[in-house]
Amino acid sequence: MEIKCPTCGSEDYVKAGLIAKEKQRYKCLNCKRRFNDLSRTVFHGQKLSGRVMRKLFALIIRDATIEDIVELLGVSIITAYVWRIKVYKCLGNYQKSVVLSGNVWIDEFFIPVNRKDLIMNKEKNYKVLA
Ligand SMILES: [Zn+2]
Repeated sequence: MEIKCPTCGSEDYVKAGLIAKEKQRYKCLNCKRRFNDLSRTVFHGQKLSGRVMRKLFALIIRDATIEDIVELLGVSIITAYVWRIKVYKCLGNYQKSVVLSGNVWIDEFFIPVNRKDLIMNKEKNYKVLA
């Protein structure tokens, strides 16, 4: 992986110790700022282990409730809620950048939705909160 300073884009850096196990810190030789592989990413500053993060993502993608995430992983309600928002936001942004080309085959795909994530419109039909 090519390492660049997230502030100035320089590729001139030195290793500046470990933040935690397996997390390398670098110092940019151009702007003198310190950064790591997670700087300026959605994972910046997160303290959960890789194992817990993988389970958290799997639960969020499967539309687990906040209560289930808290119970299964032992994280706080705020942590579960914030990460769910981050994951949805990332997926939403990714989806915006997808450009289809060539032959496109479309099929139905049903995703289970929690009833509490539904809102009722004036016609008394349920819609998913966007
Ligand atoms: Zn820099």
